[in-house]
Amino acid sequence: MFRDYTYCRHYAVRNVKYIRTDNGKYLLMFRNYTYSRQYSASTGVRWKCSRQSSKKCNAFLLIGEGDVILRQCEEHTHKPWKYHCNSDGTYTKI
Ligand SMILES: [Zn+2]
Repeated sequence: MFRDYTYCRHYAVRNVKYIRTDNGKYLLMFRNYTYSRQYSASTGVRWKCSRQSSKKCNAFLLIGEGDVILRQCEEHTHKPWKYHCNSDGTYTKI
């Protein structure tokens, strides 16, 4: 029942990317999924799937210092959105 997150060994992740969308939102991108900042915990920052409310998706990441993933759940209920990188560095959902 409590499989909603999995512990993982602490490892640095090079493919965590912080992006800004064309409507001014800051998101974290990891494995093509985007997450929005939820809150800061003592150990790190919790990012929830940016489609949590629309898709009832419980995926999240807990990111510690140095972009290390402390906890994660990547069981998304949906496919990732595709983003286009604009010339000004922002991202647009396509
Ligand atoms: Zn999701």
